[in-house]
Amino acid sequence: MSEKPVVLMPEDIQRVMGKDAQRNNILAARMVSEVVKTTLGPKGMDKMLVSPTGDIIVTNDGVTILEEIQIEHPAAKMMVEIARTQESEVGDGTTSSVMIAGKLLENAEKLLDSKIHPTLITKGYRMAAEKAQQILNEISLKISPDDDDVLKQVAMTAMTGKGAEDSREKFADIIIRAVKQIGDFHSSESTQSFERKQVQKNWKVDLDDIKIEKAKGDSVEKTELISGIVLDKEKVSNEMPEKIEGAKIALIDFPLEIKNPEIETKISISSPEQLQNFLSQEEKVIKDMVEKVAESGANVIFCQKGIDDFAQYLLSRKKIYACRRVAKSDLEKISKATGAKIVSNLGELKDVDLGKSEVVEEIKQGEDNMTYIRGCSNPKAVTILIRGGSEHVIDEIERAIKDGLGDVASSLKTGLVVPGGGAIEIELSKRLKHFGQSLGGREQLAVEEFASALEFIPLTLAENAGMDPIDVLTELKSKHNAGDMNAGLNLFENKVDNVLNAKIIEPYKIKSQAIASATEVAIMILRIDDVIASADSKSGKMNYAGSKGYQGMD
Ligand code: ADP
Ligand code: MG
Repeated sequence: MSEKPVVLMPEDIQRVMGKDAQRNNILAARMVSEVVKTTLGPKGMDKMLVSPTGDIIVTNDGVTILEEIQIEHPAAKMMVEIARTQESEVGDGTTSSVMIAGKLLENAEKLLDSKIHPTLITKGYRMAAEKAQQILNEISLKISPDDDDVLKQVAMTAMTGKGAEDSREKFADIIIRAVKQIGDFHSSESTQSFERKQVQKNWKVDLDDIKIEKAKGDSVEKTELISGIVLDKEKVSNEMPEKIEGAKIALIDFPLEIKNPEIETKISISSPEQLQNFLSQEEKVIKDMVEKVAESGANVIFCQKGIDDFAQYLLSRKKIYACRRVAKSDLEKISKATGAKIVSNLGELKDVDLGKSEVVEEIKQGEDNMTYIRGCSNPKAVTILIRGGSEHVIDEIERAIKDGLGDVASSLKTGLVVPGGGAIEIELSKRLKHFGQSLGGREQLAVEEFASALEFIPLTLAENAGMDPIDVLTELKSKHNAGDMNAGLNLFENKVDNVLNAKIIEPYKIKSQAIASATEVAIMILRIDDVIASADSKSGKMNYAGSKGYQGMD
C-alpha cells in the first residue's frame, strides 16, 4: 500500500460540514426573511434600492427587493426562489412566503438545539404542511364570479399601503373590469357568498391578456382602462394619417430597409452611373416591399424592426400608418387582439393575415405620443394605462396594480378567498396545534413549531403598525379559541376585529402557495449537511462565502 495521502478534491474547494453547514444556511435564510420583514402589511416600511449605476427604486414589494439586492449565499438564493415562485404562481404574497420559510427554519433550529434529528423535523414539517393545506381548503370561503363587492375588497386589500392609497378604490374598479373582460367564467352554478365549502372552480383568467402601459406627465387619478391596445409608439412619419378608421393591420417581424445601408466593399463602383444604378436598385427593393404591403390591403403596419426614410416616405404617400421597433410581446398582443398574423416574409402577406380594428390612432399622452388600437375584433383586448408624475411613482403603482390583478385573478381561478389581517394564519395555527396533540412523539414538537411559525404573520403585521405584538397575538388567540374564525388585525383602525366586516380579504391561493413553497425550501435547507463550493474560475473568489461572512450576526 502506498503512503500517499488521499486527495479527494482540489485545494481551493471550500467545504463546510455537519452542524456548521446547517447553522450557516439557516442563518442566511433567516437573514433574507429579516430583510423583507419590515415591509409586511399596509403599515410596512419601504426600501430604497440603489443600483450600481445609480438607478433608484422605492418599494415594499418583497420580490422586487430580493431581486435587486444581488444575494450571493446559496441558501439565501433558495429563499429568493420562493418569492419568485410566489410571484409567478399568484402575483402577490412574496413577503409572507419568505417570512414563513425563515420562521420555519428558525423554529427548526430550536428543535436541533434540543437534539432532535433533522429527519424527524422534516417529517413533522411535511405532515404539518399537508394538514395545513387540508384545513385551509376546508375553511376557505367560496365566491362566485359576479361577487364584484368581494373581488373589489380583494383588490383593495392587495393594494393597501402600496403608494396607491388615494386611488385604491378607482384602481380596484379598473382591475375588476379588466379581469372580467378577459376572463372565462363558464360555471353557471350560483352560490351564496362566503359559504364555506370544499369546492374549487376552474375559471380561466390569463393576465397576459391585459396590457399595462405607462404614461408620464399626468396625475395618478387619470389612470384608466382602455378597451383595446395602447402602444407606447408614435407613427414613424408626420406625413402619415393621424387616424385610420376600419384599420387593416399588418404585423411584420423583419425590417423595411436594406440590411446594410453602407455600400458593401464587395461591390466595386467605378462610375457615377454605376452608383446611381446601385442606389436605384436599393430603392426598387424598398419600393417593392411597400407595394406588397399596399397590395395586401393593409393600411396600418406594426414592424418589429426598423423602417428607413425612403420606406417611410412611400408608406406616407400611400396613407399607411406605420410604427417601427414594436416589441415582439406587443406584436403578439396585437395579434391576439386583432387576429393579425405575424409575418416574416412579405411575399406571404395576404389579406387574410391582416388584423382588424375599428380605429388606429395617434394620441398625445403627457409627454409622449401613443398609438391606440380600439374596437378590436377580439373584445378581450384591454390595456391599463397608468399615469403619474414620475417614473418612481408610476412603477410603484404598477406593482400595486399587478398585485391587485394577481389577487383578483387567483380568487376567480379557484373561487376561494380567506380572511386577511392574519386571521387565517391564526386559525390554521390553532387547528394545527390541535392536530399535533393527536400525534404525540417528536413529530408533535415539529408540528407545533410549524404551527407557531404561521403566527409570525399577524405578529409582524402588529409590530410594523406600532402595536404591541404580544398583546395582539394573545387577543387573537383567545378570540379564535372562542370560535371567532374571522378575528384578525384591522390596520385601518389598528385593532383586533372581524376582518371580513373590515373588508380585508385575500385569495386562498396566496396562502396555499406560500405554505407549499416555504415548507419545501425549509425542508430542503434542513436536509443539507455538507456544502462543497468550488472557487470561481475567473476571480478566484469562492462562490460560497462559508461561515466567515456571517459570523457575529447570530
Ligand atoms: P406580501 O408581499 O406578503 O403580499 P404585503 O406587504 O402585501 O406582503 O402584506 C400582506 C399582508 O397584509 C397580508 O397578511 C394581508 O392580510 C395584510 N393586510 C392587508 N391589508 C390589511 C389591513 N387593512 N389590515 C390588516 N392587515 C392587512
Ligand atoms: Mg401583498
